[in-house]
Amino acid sequence: MEIKNPTPEQNKIAVLLDDLSSLESYARDLFSFLPLPVCLVSSIGIILETNPALEKISGYSTEELIGNPLENFIGKLDANRLIKETLEKGSLSSREIVLTTKDKKKIYVSASTLLRKNDQGETIGCFMGLFDLTAIKENEQDLHKSQSALLNILEDVVEEKGKAEEEKNKTSAVIANLTDGLMVFDSQNNLSLINPPAEKLLRVKKDAVYNKSPDELASLTDSFKPLLTILGKEIKEIFRQEIIIEDFTLEISSVSIGASKNRTGSLIIVHDITREKGIERMKTEFVSIAAHQLRTPLSVIKWALSLLLEGDVGELSAEQKNVIGKSYTSNERMITLINDLLDVARIEEGRYLYKLVTAKLENLAQAALSSCREIAAKRNIKLEYQKPAKALPELMIDAEKITFAIQNLVENAIKYTPPGGQVTVSLKYDTNKVALSVKDTGVGISQEQQNRLFTKFFRANNIMRMETDGTGLGLFIAKNIIEAHGGQIRCQSQENKGSTFSFSLPINN
Ligand code: ADP
Repeated sequence: MEIKNPTPEQNKIAVLLDDLSSLESYARDLFSFLPLPVCLVSSIGIILETNPALEKISGYSTEELIGNPLENFIGKLDANRLIKETLEKGSLSSREIVLTTKDKKKIYVSASTLLRKNDQGETIGCFMGLFDLTAIKENEQDLHKSQSALLNILEDVVEEKGKAEEEKNKTSAVIANLTDGLMVFDSQNNLSLINPPAEKLLRVKKDAVYNKSPDELASLTDSFKPLLTILGKEIKEIFRQEIIIEDFTLEISSVSIGASKNRTGSLIIVHDITREKGIERMKTEFVSIAAHQLRTPLSVIKWALSLLLEGDVGELSAEQKNVIGKSYTSNERMITLINDLLDVARIEEGRYLYKLVTAKLENLAQAALSSCREIAAKRNIKLEYQKPAKALPELMIDAEKITFAIQNLVENAIKYTPPGGQVTVSLKYDTNKVALSVKDTGVGISQEQQNRLFTKFFRANNIMRMETDGTGLGLFIAKNIIEAHGGQIRCQSQENKGSTFSFSLPINN
């Protein structure tokens, strides 16, 4: 109602009332604008006022909140405690409580309160502000999970480190206690590991050689020189190469560590073969002495038997001739064996000397062939010779030894080919070498046994069944002869089909 002609006091009151109403509307606007859930609670825990933020977080409408107890959504215990403590202390800050929403979801919130009094100073309740901790709690949980995952990883790492340490200790113990010497050069070819046997065999102390390059090692100690001569500065891969250091013979093998592109170093194995070498030498000496001792009586027997056979000491009956003839053949076989053994002994002693002369391989091949014609004919084997397409050059070779090698290949071809078969000898001239091959249509050699060809005393299973004579030394000697001339010998064979043995010799002048 509007007052006509108001007194100055009435005017003042009207202005004050206006101010009050705008203050109330300001407070209301602020209350509802606040993004924090806030409510006013009576001293006995009844919600008197609430703002939209609280409605939003709780899921309850204003009507469901106002006039209802606070314990409805924060639980009786927390509601009583908050109100009691606020009444006692005047305010509380950041108390963590759980709020249950209308749809029974639990939300962690932080509650702060402030006592509210009226004009007369009587307590009428308290303000309560809530802060949603969901995001913080989630982050905390994530953090917790990451922390425990990290701890697990750390534990695994510690465990793995322990295992690696254990493995390292085991490997170090194995390396240190190996009988063979072991060295490792790193990717820069500096020596990064040497075990005690290698120190002993190479007569060095590890502290003096660690981290040294091949050049430094060679200048540091003489014993490294022969080793580095075969390994080279680049520490190349080698297999079982022998070196001699003072009285020791060492066998060196080297392998790259890691794939060729990602080579991380080289491993060198030093194997002491001094004892084996000594035994081998003694064995060779024994064979050599025994063979020499046997050769003289065998020659005497040969001479005596031939006298008998030729009738120089009286005519023999046919039967006697037959018996003596058989003895003569057996004696010849013995002489061949002894000669082969002596050749092997000489090869192994490194004194299989070569008398080099200029000779044509073609002539040697033809000579070897003519000496085999009779036996080929006897066995009904066709022996064929294929002339080279172009004339062969003269070679500097040991003609006698090369003839032995050719003869051995041709004799084998005839011996291991059943009657009716064929043996073909052919010669070839390439730019820098000449080659001879002996092809037969014989029994061949099984795939599994081919890698044993050219080794001492090897005789294949299939020919053992044929009951042929032989020592298993011919191919070993032939291989040594060819290789001593810088050539190569090889065989291609198929069981029951035939074989081709061939060798090549370099043309060196
Ligand atoms: P030997 O002939 O005295 O047994 P070799 O050293 O000459 O000794 O030959 C070794 C072995 O190689 C023979 O015993 C035989 O098993 C096999 N061999 C050699 N040449 C032939 C061939 N032409 N055909 C089949 N086997 C062969």
